[in-house]
Amino acid sequence: MDIAAILKEIDAAMRLSPNRGRVADYIPELAAVDPGQFAMSIVLADGTQLSVGDAEVPFSIQSVSKVFALALALGRLGDRLWDRVGREPSGLAFNSILQLEHERGLPRNPFINAGAIVVTDAVLSTHAPREYLGELLRFIRTAAGDDDIHINQGVARSETETGNRNFALAHYMRAFGNLTNAPELTLGAYFHQCAVEMTCAQLARAGRFLMGVPDMPRLVSPERVRRINALMMTCGHYDGSGDFAYRVGLPGKSGVGGGILVIAPGRASIAVWSPGLNEQGNSKLGTEAVEMLARQTGWSVFG
Ligand code: GLN
Repeated sequence: MDIAAILKEIDAAMRLSPNRGRVADYIPELAAVDPGQFAMSIVLADGTQLSVGDAEVPFSIQSVSKVFALALALGRLGDRLWDRVGREPSGLAFNSILQLEHERGLPRNPFINAGAIVVTDAVLSTHAPREYLGELLRFIRTAAGDDDIHINQGVARSETETGNRNFALAHYMRAFGNLTNAPELTLGAYFHQCAVEMTCAQLARAGRFLMGVPDMPRLVSPERVRRINALMMTCGHYDGSGDFAYRVGLPGKSGVGGGILVIAPGRASIAVWSPGLNEQGNSKLGTEAVEMLARQTGWSVFG
């Protein structure tokens, strides 16, 4: 199979696409990103990496960071984490507060905002925010095999300034006893983790630990790799998770910066980036590109 040719074809198709979705505009740093950009990068099981498009341009990984934060938190707390956050798809927007009242402050899963805020809060029971962020960056850098990965402080500041919904979620969960730290402290760490910047090429490498291939960096146990992939499949695209599973058939986690990390277990770690979003806040062209890749390669967890 000629992956390089497939990638080229996808890049050409995406460059021509007239409808690129809408760039997130809740903070100026994201609103200013050129929607014309597109990148895709793939690391194969033998370690070969292939990239097309703007694969060396850093972007805000936003909610893709929830995967790394979860892996880190499970390593620190183990299955105790599940006392505070569920493992069911929410069927609602990433920042929805709706279910929290019915479900008494227990967020549905670690990949919606409420769940990710709890995951960060849980790690902060044993780490100061600065230590936690240092550890998270170390985890991501080790995963990517690249130290040139940083937090964009301007983005973190803007997230804080516009974070009313996240503050609402945090306060609401604290009212139910499911946030142990002050909302300002937990959200300070959460906003910084959202503000990690990576290139598409770096993100594809950082996903290698989820491929389930022995030669790749082993940051978590094989059982945990399978479980994180299961959560990415069922919850990684918010209320678009079912559609992503149907169209792509691979676990993926998106972010409002337009990045998606997709894993083809045993075969590849794939990162795609295009800043324009669809209705559910997932990269529009990114989704179309991985759908095309899955179709052309036949990669799917469903056989
Ligand atoms: N920083 C964003 C938020 O917390 C991340 C959401 C996302 O990427 N979907 O609202």
